[in-house]
Amino acid sequence: MPHVFELAPSGRSKCRGCGRSIERAELRFGERLPNPFTEGGEMTAWFHPLCAAYKRPEPLLQALAERPDEVPDRERLERTARSGLEHPRLVRIDGADRAASGQAKCRSCHEPIARGGLRIRIVFWEEGRFTGGGYLHLDCRKAYFETDEVLDRLLHFSPDLGEDERDELTRACGADTPGPAAPQA
Ligand SMILES: [Zn+2]
Ligand SMILES: [Zn+2]
Repeated sequence: MPHVFELAPSGRSKCRGCGRSIERAELRFGERLPNPFTEGGEMTAWFHPLCAAYKRPEPLLQALAERPDEVPDRERLERTARSGLEHPRLVRIDGADRAASGQAKCRSCHEPIARGGLRIRIVFWEEGRFTGGGYLHLDCRKAYFETDEVLDRLLHFSPDLGEDERDELTRACGADTPGPAAPQA
């Protein structure tokens, strides 16, 4: 079956991208996947459309292309998804947090991440779900992602960060104003 957009019939599904509930009657994106537990079976991974644009750009773009009609925020979804195709490591971004201990090592430079420092969480998509892939120094973002356009992803997947951390992230990423970038002319 092809991937799908639909209005959630209940509030019980959770977004694979951010882990939060998808509300009843909210538009959701379903990625069809082979079910690893049943021969020839399929399963559907549900996402908020923007979460899928960040983390599963290929199936999302495929579904958008097959659906030329009404999808709210289509331009932003397409732009976001294409940035993940241009810089494939971007899709691994799972947000930012403060290191609770000094034990984790950075995936990029392999040095420890100091306790209390802001770090970027990385995940990998495997068999229909994301699994933790470690952390990066905030300052190693450019070396690892090969682009500096990470702030909107960090903020999107860090809804629990306080104002202070959001400000610190924004300043560290050298952005004037957080939030969605203006559409390209
Ligand atoms: Zn989500
Ligand atoms: Zn590093």
